[in-house]
Amino acid sequence: MDFTFPEEITALRASFSDFVKRQIMPLEEELAGEFESLSPDRQRIVEAMDRVRALSVEAGFFAAHMPESVGGQGLSTLGMTALVEDAARSGSRLAMTAISPPNPAGPSSLLLKLPDHLIKEWVTPVVTGTKTVCFALTEPEAGSDAQAIRTKATKDGDGWRINGHKHYITNASHADFAVVFAVTDAQKRAAGGITAFLVPADQFRRGPTQWNISDTHPGELFFEDAWVPDDHVVGEVGLGFFAAMEFLNAGRAFIGAQALGLAQFSLDAATAHVQARTAFGKPLAAFQGASFPLAESKVEIEAMRWLVYHLAWAVDEGQNPMLDASIVKYYSTERAYAVADRCLQVFGGMGLMKSGPIERVLRHLRMLRVVEGASEIQLLVISRALTVK
Ligand SMILES: Cc1cc2nc3c(=O)[nH]c(=O)nc-3n(C[C@H](O)[C@H](O)[C@H](O)COP(=O)(O)OP(=O)(O)OC[C@H]3O[C@@H](n4cnc5c(N)ncnc54)[C@H](O)[C@@H]3O)c2cc1C
Repeated sequence: MDFTFPEEITALRASFSDFVKRQIMPLEEELAGEFESLSPDRQRIVEAMDRVRALSVEAGFFAAHMPESVGGQGLSTLGMTALVEDAARSGSRLAMTAISPPNPAGPSSLLLKLPDHLIKEWVTPVVTGTKTVCFALTEPEAGSDAQAIRTKATKDGDGWRINGHKHYITNASHADFAVVFAVTDAQKRAAGGITAFLVPADQFRRGPTQWNISDTHPGELFFEDAWVPDDHVVGEVGLGFFAAMEFLNAGRAFIGAQALGLAQFSLDAATAHVQARTAFGKPLAAFQGASFPLAESKVEIEAMRWLVYHLAWAVDEGQNPMLDASIVKYYSTERAYAVADRCLQVFGGMGLMKSGPIERVLRHLRMLRVVEGASEIQLLVISRALTVK
């Protein structure tokens, strides 16, 4: 076993960190305070995100994991995982926009299931950052139990008529198109009865923003007699549920890397704080009550790190490691939240302040324990792997 990163990934990480420091941080500082805005259009944030995408495309980082044939760099999962970790560790909120995964607004291999002419029309602009997408699976009556969705697609002429309602959809308010999952055979459902469709924005209505604990604000989408032609099926008719699970499974290394980076950012900040802050005539670091939680956090971060890297490596080896992916999603999001919580505690009151470094990280990590398969669903997958042969 060789755990050393390939040299080209180490060099890429260094140049990405430099890019974040020189190009993204100044934009971020200009926006300080606006990230908490509840204004429905959040115009300045949206403009800054567009700018970050454009800068990152120019620098060759955005969508680097996509194949060269569609404008990406063909970067390995391990390479992209490292960039996601570094974006999260930088503490910049905009840095996550510079890297398309784990945010579903950017391109993913799911879109490569479209026919060539649609790849040119819809996917290439997502790779070059001029269009964004959303992944629309969840509904008010179907979240963890995704095969229970009610959105229906029925054959109509040379295409499909779609009716239904999705909620909690990231980037619903700005996506140029949605990948929508709908029932095409109510008897078969997950076993061949759910299909994915590319639905352009002129075929759906957007609902209000769904403000929540994190800074990721999803929204509702309504499909009222939407119509798309036959070639807008993503992949094959009936295989949409498998495509959705493949998409979520492939993203686990990226979610794990995001949690890992945020945990490391929290530990970096808390380590500096306990050395600078004094109480009872000594730096906080001199008290085990403040330093042991940091030591415990270091142990958990190292365990997270190697689980995440191992999963990314296995994906690059062509394996479909569903069990490893669930272990990574569960362990990294749960432990990163515990790390950030401990780090918040050593900051005292400042830990709770919006002006401090940890408060928004804790909120984001709380969200990661629920989305894309809540922790309990990962435990379900892991326990089934143990008990069902
Ligand atoms: C900020 C945010 C962004 C999101 N973005 C998207 C997006 O872009 N696209 C999209 O399609 N969806 C998105 N979602 C939806 C998200 O994936 C769901 O919220 C998640 O899958 C949980 O579904 P639910 O909310 O319906 O909860 P439920 O399924 O109702 O679950 C409620 C609780 O019950 C537990 N539970 C459910 N079944 C079991 C079981 N069998 N055993 C044990 N416990 C169980 C769950 O773990 C959870 O704790 C987003 C959600 C949020 C909050």
